[in-house]
Amino acid sequence: MKKQWTAAASLMFLMFAIPIRTAQGQAQSPPAGIVLTGDVTGAQNKTHFEIPFNVPAGTHRISVDFHYTGAEQHATLDLGIADPERFRGESGGNKSHFTIGENDATPSYLPGAIPAGTWHLLIAVPNMRAHVVSHYRAEIRFNDRAEDASFAEQPLAKGTRWYRGDLHMHSGHSDGRCPSQSGAMVACPVFVNAQTAAARGLDFIAIADHNADSQYDAERELQPYFDRVLLIPAREITTFHGHFNIFGVTQFVDWRVTQGGLDLNSVLRDVAAKGGIASVNHALSPDGEICMGCKWDPPPDEDISLFTAVEVINGGPFMLSSAKFWDAQLREGHRLAAVGGSDSHNAMNPPGPKGSIGWPTTVVEADELSVSAILGGIRRGRTFVDLTASHDKVVDFEAESGGVQARMGETLHAAAGAEIRVRIHTVGCAGSLVHLLLDGEEVAAAPPMTVDSAGAPVEAKVTVGAGRHWLRVEVRDAKGGLLLMSSPIYVNFAD
Ligand SMILES: [Zn+2]
Ligand SMILES: [Zn+2]
Repeated sequence: MKKQWTAAASLMFLMFAIPIRTAQGQAQSPPAGIVLTGDVTGAQNKTHFEIPFNVPAGTHRISVDFHYTGAEQHATLDLGIADPERFRGESGGNKSHFTIGENDATPSYLPGAIPAGTWHLLIAVPNMRAHVVSHYRAEIRFNDRAEDASFAEQPLAKGTRWYRGDLHMHSGHSDGRCPSQSGAMVACPVFVNAQTAAARGLDFIAIADHNADSQYDAERELQPYFDRVLLIPAREITTFHGHFNIFGVTQFVDWRVTQGGLDLNSVLRDVAAKGGIASVNHALSPDGEICMGCKWDPPPDEDISLFTAVEVINGGPFMLSSAKFWDAQLREGHRLAAVGGSDSHNAMNPPGPKGSIGWPTTVVEADELSVSAILGGIRRGRTFVDLTASHDKVVDFEAESGGVQARMGETLHAAAGAEIRVRIHTVGCAGSLVHLLLDGEEVAAAPPMTVDSAGAPVEAKVTVGAGRHWLRVEVRDAKGGLLLMSSPIYVNFAD
């Protein structure tokens, strides 16, 4: 017992602050944290000791990094942790980092409420030579926002390019079902969603179970195994007034919107405060007893500017377009990126546009494959939807007026009556027709243009009146079938 406290007595508690990057990429107030250091001597060989530390009220996540010296002399310290009430996990010598949140934790550890008070690191000493002194250092962070937003500790890939993924699917944590070993339809494990996405070459997926946050613990476990498919934390907030996806949030969000009670805008502000973004799902879905609450039909005071994106194509059973709803919001001056998702409810559905993972994909320009970069690309409107689930098709465009240029996702300022020159780039679309839409409509000045066999950019000129407008692009096949749908360039929108 005395030896046990020898180490504890030499502890040093240091408050520290680590600059973190939020999903917006902006520096925010750093998470509170402490550093615990101490020495372990040979006299403590084959003993256990505990390192106490205080967890402040209001903590929803604890992250620990633990390192020690002397490994070259076979010094060994095993790591575990207990909260004020119970054992929360033990990873021995197999992990030097772990995180415990309310809904997810690193394997070896138990997610759940984070009670304030005295927690203990549980240290075992399987081996410490007689004359060795090992110096340990435990960095403990509270409410690390990067870990709230991502199951991946590092970007899965580096480099600016178009990343392709599916932003809407369900697992057995809500109503996703798939065939069991014997063919019965059962609640589908998250693993199957990730496995299918990997087999289809997707860069990212968002498993958006209805109001559920139990899937995150499984995703925390799966992410290191799926080191080419980014698992973006998501949920389909399912209200009586419509559905919307939230991305980049693992904390609880109350969704129980009722008249006179919780209002929709408060739910969306809660999502934003927790670092997430939201997209309106299948806004033009049938409603009523066919699909209860599926159509977007919010209370009159709902503020659409709290959304970042609109799911313009929902895979579902029949590739539902909500472009008319989207255009109506753009007409009101709201900036909303185009996203899409399969809404797959069976991760084993065969490839094809029938609610299968990847039909459609959302394609996002980002400088790396991480949650913050993908959500950043959606925030910037650097997105298009690929209804064909291709691995190569691209549409991007820029507009120029009076010597000023804007890319897809940006704002162009143009004088009334000014000509806007638009240049549209495609990849993998030879023989397809490029439709430039002004304010959601085709215009006589810019009829559909055929992409030549070399895939050269196409150009068009349109003239706009005073005020706000938007330009967007659809790529269609020779029969008029929609292939790609771009995000807008906003003309004269408020900055
Ligand atoms: Zn839905
Ligand atoms: Zn859904």
